[in-house]
Formats: sequence, structure tokens, C-alpha cells
Amino acid sequence: MTDPAETDPAGTVAGNQVDTGTGKLFLPDMDISELEEFFAGIGQKKYRAKQVFGWIAKGAVSFDEMTDLPLALREDLKLLARVSCLKIRKKFVSAVDGTVKYLFGLDDGNIIESVLMEYNHGYTACVSSQVGCKMGCSFCASTVAGFRRNLTAGEILEQVLAIQRDSGVRVSNVVVMGIGEPFDNYDNVIKFLRLANSHHGLNIGYRHMTVSTCGIVPGILRFAGEGFQVNLAVSLHAPNDRIRAKLMPVGRKYRIDKIIEASKIYTEKTNRRIMFEYALIEGVNDLPENAVELAFLLKGLLCLVNLIPVNPVDETSYRQSGRKRTERFAAILKENGIETTVRRELGSDINAACGQLRLREMSARGSPEREQETGTGTAKG
Ligand code: SAH
Repeated sequence: MTDPAETDPAGTVAGNQVDTGTGKLFLPDMDISELEEFFAGIGQKKYRAKQVFGWIAKGAVSFDEMTDLPLALREDLKLLARVSCLKIRKKFVSAVDGTVKYLFGLDDGNIIESVLMEYNHGYTACVSSQVGCKMGCSFCASTVAGFRRNLTAGEILEQVLAIQRDSGVRVSNVVVMGIGEPFDNYDNVIKFLRLANSHHGLNIGYRHMTVSTCGIVPGILRFAGEGFQVNLAVSLHAPNDRIRAKLMPVGRKYRIDKIIEASKIYTEKTNRRIMFEYALIEGVNDLPENAVELAFLLKGLLCLVNLIPVNPVDETSYRQSGRKRTERFAAILKENGIETTVRRELGSDINAACGQLRLREMSARGSPEREQETGTGTAKG
């Protein structure tokens, strides 16, 4: 076992989290070969790794549940390691569509958000990849609330497990579209995808996973080389660099033509269609000429545009494009041969847009906690 004294200040050993208070290893961070090493290190047989990996995926929160491990081993493991870290701080259930938003507390007091959505094809978990975000998109609540730290692979995985545990449903799809920029925490996100894919664990197919990036070009290119068929979503939100740079500071670093170039490589390597996300903001990026320019930009690319009426965040002055403007924008794209959908607004009554709950929670710290809140059905977003 690694000496906890060797950990860095963030409490990680080779990407694995160690509780800085107790020095205990967080086993959900480990893949099977790392678990094998861990068990070998404490004089145990290799096959214990698969057993524990399986229990974690089944949602075990304590070693006591792992009934096929000898009692003495369970007691030893309790001293050395942990298998669960998330506590439900709040839970919001949409009265409109049943979407559930979780506010999870981490061991170090930080909070993150995850969402459970029901679609025709099953249940999708939307998970956070960081505590906060550094990207600074002007319309996004995660930015207002600030960046704290990366999540480990196991902390991302735990969100899916905690959701399954609480709701009793089996999550069949995962989208990394919660708080944070996945390609700013590249290694942990990739590790999470591989952990969730393992047939010894959750066994979620790569084609049932989506990673959403604000357009970090080197990340897209690296992702293209991973050799799996994970879906890629790119938050474009503008048809040109001038508008994009105003909305997204990252747009000053990576130009749209480079993003399109990298996206093309991604589609060629993976055969997967890219989804471009486009949050419609009244008068900013929703004019007919913006739609024409966008269609021109995307012509010939294996892609889909997902239009999202922007979710107004209190701290910004952006207004959501109305239905008419949204439909006009979609129609222009379609006329120009671009496949387009308008996102169903799930959980609009419970602030289900990225980072909104964390922001509210942080501004309201100290206020009495409620275990569960239920959406009123009045559209907020
Ligand atoms: N950092 C990643 C993933 C997290 S955000 C990314 O940028 O893609 C998930 C999606 O929600 C992104 O497309 C983001 O731009 C969008 N988003 C953030 N705030 C929003 C808001 N207020 N209204 C609509 N979409 C928003």
C-alpha cells in the first residue's frame, strides 16, 4: 500500500484519492489491475479485486455488504480503505417530468451536482467532472460559483452509483455534461469512462456515453486517439469567433476552424456523429444570419446541432430565445441540410441547468438544510 505521507496536497496518489484525514484509499478510483496490486500488497489473492470491483459497481457503501469476503479481511479493509464518498445533501424532483437533481456532498465539504433523466431508451445520468469550472463561459452558473478542484475517476463514478442506489433504476447512459470541463481533467475522465465500461462493473457501452467539451482542441484530438466510440458533444454556441469569444473566453484560445478540423478527425476516427450544442440567447446568437453562417460552417460534417434555449442564470443578463426565434433558427439549419434538434427542457422547474444548484447552495450556505425538495411545476429556467 502507498504510504499516505507520500500523497500530494490534493490527496491523490497516481490519480487515486486518499482521504487526507484518515489516509484511507478510495477504492472506486481503482481499475481491476490497480485493485489486484492493492490486494497483492496486503497479502491477499488477486481474485479479491474483481469481487470488490463488482461490489462497488453494485452500489455497496461499506465492506460489511461484501459478504463473500472473509470477515477478517472486511475488518482489515475498513482500516485501510473506503468505498463510498458521496452524501446526498439535497434532492430535487421535477414535478413536470420526473427529472431528479442531486446535490452531493464530498468528503472535503465540496459540493457537486448530478442529474437523472428519463428518456424513451432508458435512464441517463449527467455527471460533474470538476468542483466548479475554470472556463469562464459568461452564461454558465458553474463559472459564477468558481473552481475548486478536479474530481477523481472514482468520484465521477460514485455519482452514477449513488444515483442508482437512491433511485433504484439502472442507468444505461452517461453524459459528462455536469459541472466542469472534462478535457481540463482529461486523465480522470478517461479513467472514469473505462471504469464505467468494464464488464466486471457497470458495463455501460461506450456508445452510451457522451463527453461534452467547451472546445479544447488538443483534448478533442487526444480523445480521438483513445480507440473507443464515446460520443462527443462540442459546446459551440456561436457561428463565428467574434461572437464566441464574447460568450466563451476559451474561444480566444481555440478558433472555430480548428475546432471543426478536430471534430472532423474525431468523426473519421470513431465513426460517431458529433453533437454541437448551441444555447440560444436572444439578440446575441439567435439571428437568422447566425443560423445561415452556422449552416455554412458545418456543411458536410457528420454532425447534429442541438439547440438549447439558454437557461437564464440570475447573475447574467441573457434572455432565452422565444419559441418563434428558436423555430426559425432550427428551420434555417434544416433547410441548409444540417440535422437539428431542439433540446427538451428537462427539469426546468428545479434549476437543472449546469451549476445552478451549486451556485444557489453556496450563496445560501448556513441556511437550514432540507432533505428533499420537490419542484413546484412553475418554469424557472
Ligand atoms: N464544460 C463542458 C460541459 C459542461 S456544461 C462544456 O462546456 O461542454 C454542459 C452544457 O451546458 C454545455 O453545452 C454548456 O455550454 C451548457 N450550458 C451551461 N450553462 C448554460 C445555460 N445557462 N443555459 C444553457 N446551456 C448552458
